[in-house]
Amino acid sequence: MKITDLHQRTFDYIRIALNEKCNFRCMYCMPTEGIQFKPEDQLLSDDEIFRVVSVLAKHGVTKVRLTGGEPLIRKGISQLVNVISHTDGIKSVHLTTNGLYLDTFLQPLIDAGLDGLNISLDTLRENRFFEITRRNDFPRVWKNVLSAIELPEIHVKINVVLMRGINADEILDFVNLASEYPVSVRFIELMPFDDHQIWRTGRFMGVDMIIETLNKVIPTDERQVGTPTEQYYFKPDGFAGGVAIIPAFARSFCGACNRIRLTADGQIRNCLYSNQEFNLRDLIRNGCSNEEIFSLVQSAMHQKARDGFEAEHEDNHKRTSMTQIGG
Ligand code: SAM
Ligand code: SF4
Repeated sequence: MKITDLHQRTFDYIRIALNEKCNFRCMYCMPTEGIQFKPEDQLLSDDEIFRVVSVLAKHGVTKVRLTGGEPLIRKGISQLVNVISHTDGIKSVHLTTNGLYLDTFLQPLIDAGLDGLNISLDTLRENRFFEITRRNDFPRVWKNVLSAIELPEIHVKINVVLMRGINADEILDFVNLASEYPVSVRFIELMPFDDHQIWRTGRFMGVDMIIETLNKVIPTDERQVGTPTEQYYFKPDGFAGGVAIIPAFARSFCGACNRIRLTADGQIRNCLYSNQEFNLRDLIRNGCSNEEIFSLVQSAMHQKARDGFEAEHEDNHKRTSMTQIGG
């Protein structure tokens, strides 16, 4: 039986946060001092993750994305990808990373069966990279990005969170990147998951403003079909890659949502904007059956709101960073 909700949606994609910790402190994600990270024993173990994936794969889940926190700082990441990619029913495994450790892990990950890689990179300028991530690692990340793009085995997407007065003046530079290299550059709207930092400082750049700027620098306004979240996708003639906008705040893609979210501490979330959580970890640790795992996930998805606006009004278990939700 497939996993569905009450709004005619079917869920074949799970995003799993592997940790909350990160080696960066992006200004829109975490404060400089970090957040209160949960102790390791509260996070799902590899075996618990494998079990959840194999149960859900029997119910139509075919795609897995590993995220965090920073997934590449989780011990045994390649082995994790290996087991997941060989799970019956799983057709593709993807990873979202800040790119810092790709020099060590990219080839092992590809050998383990990784199909797609999203690298978060909000600037192409070294000084600004420090301002945004509070780390001095631009040269290493950039080298890793270029090496990843060159590998024929994997498609690379670059996620750029656009912020007014911070990196919005780099749209053309990122478009040029997509022109020169076979990458998808995806401009993402800032989301309000970090009240105490940047959200309230007027940096938000909405999809209309992004489109307006893009129209000036891109030689086409002909939209093509991207992934369900890539609501605007352009691949102008002569471009090696493509350019997309993800209206993460406008939430115009909710009708096509196919995602289940699993936090690092084993909570199912049915929407990025919902604060409702369903405790899969404790269910598993109390010795549940596979059928009960499926039932909890199905019940969580049945309670999914129609869209992210409706979900936002539910109020409990507030978390203060995307790393706790799994970006
Ligand atoms: N550390 C990895 C990375 O940065 O790619 C994976 C986890 S990170 C939480 C996943 C994605 O969420 C990144 O692309 C990041 O830019 C995005 N993100 C985090 N906080 C955000 C926010 N407040 N608004 C929009 N995107 C955000
Ligand atoms: Fe770390 Fe990713 Fe959050 Fe940046 S966006 S602090 S890299 S988890």
